[in-house]
Amino acid sequence: MYSLRVQLLAVTLIAAIGGAVAFYNHTSLLISLLIMFAIVTIAYGILFVLVYRPLQRIQRVVTAQEDKESVRRVNASSSDEFQHLSDSFNTMLDLFRTDIRQLEKLERVRSEFLSNVSHELRTPLFATQGLIETLLHGAVDDKKVNKDFLKKALNNIERLNSLLEELIDISRIESGEMKLRVRYFDIMPMLETAVAELQDYAAQRSISLAINVPEESEIKVFGDKERLRQVLVNLIENAIKYSEPKDSVVINCKDEKECVVISVEDTGIGIAPQHISRIFERFYRVDKDRSRDVGGSGLGLAIVKHIIEAHNQTISVDSKVGIGTIFTFSVSKLGVEV
Ligand code: ADP
Repeated sequence: MYSLRVQLLAVTLIAAIGGAVAFYNHTSLLISLLIMFAIVTIAYGILFVLVYRPLQRIQRVVTAQEDKESVRRVNASSSDEFQHLSDSFNTMLDLFRTDIRQLEKLERVRSEFLSNVSHELRTPLFATQGLIETLLHGAVDDKKVNKDFLKKALNNIERLNSLLEELIDISRIESGEMKLRVRYFDIMPMLETAVAELQDYAAQRSISLAINVPEESEIKVFGDKERLRQVLVNLIENAIKYSEPKDSVVINCKDEKECVVISVEDTGIGIAPQHISRIFERFYRVDKDRSRDVGGSGLGLAIVKHIIEAHNQTISVDSKVGIGTIFTFSVSKLGVEV
């Protein structure tokens, strides 16, 4: 499309030529001038309606975008060209708005994450600082409390350490830095060793921990053995943490055609329905105090879900308050080793 100035010049030229032709054909000067004036007015009118007004509408919508909340869109129903232009402009506007909303969401998630991280780090850090200060102010010579304080300080430091490890894991997973080392391996020994490692922890809390696996001596699955072990340990630890003495935890393994289905089932405190959809979120905890008391950070299930999804598999949860919880995930038996 020619620029407005060129169009205006063309109109004026056409009008001048029209006037000159009329004058040349012996029309009186006044009539020729009137013809010229009429051509210019009609042409300017057409240009105003078809070009200038749609442009003004677009300009107004562009200016309105200075206000972030603006919902104005261009509505130019004049010529085809302007309709196309306004449609493209509206599409561009929609894309920008989606991008802006996404950026705002990312920013919110980032600052929420930072405040959660600092809060989680601060709690054991301040607790340790308090314990060491009390020891320095004399409690170190008090045989009744000194060992207890030192043990508590050590617990807090261990919690800090595991929190940092989980933070590193989650940031590596989410940035795509963590690569899975997938290969075929026998899942049975992995299940048995994970359960054996946690027997002491279960016994300390008077919880029975058992494994219920198929008869087969070997079941080959395809995945990252270390990461899947991490998933299993995390789920078993949670099952123990969120159960009461005398409760039981059972690990079931079902051999299916293309995958192995593993479930970690407990008769513990359970999870109320309104929390179920959120427990895989970072830092989400049903009962913050209980989670902290048992050394939880709220990151475990987020990591578990990431790992399972990185294997193109799914994890689900079924729970009833006061009855127990069952987490179920699958591991593929098929894959291509590289
Ligand atoms: P945490 O470090 O707090 O255990 P997780 O991400 O592992 O964090 O779990 C998130 C929350 O889900 C826990 O705080 C707990 O409230 C709930 N939860 C996880 N597993 C169980 C379970 N087996 N029984 C009851 N609640 C559970």
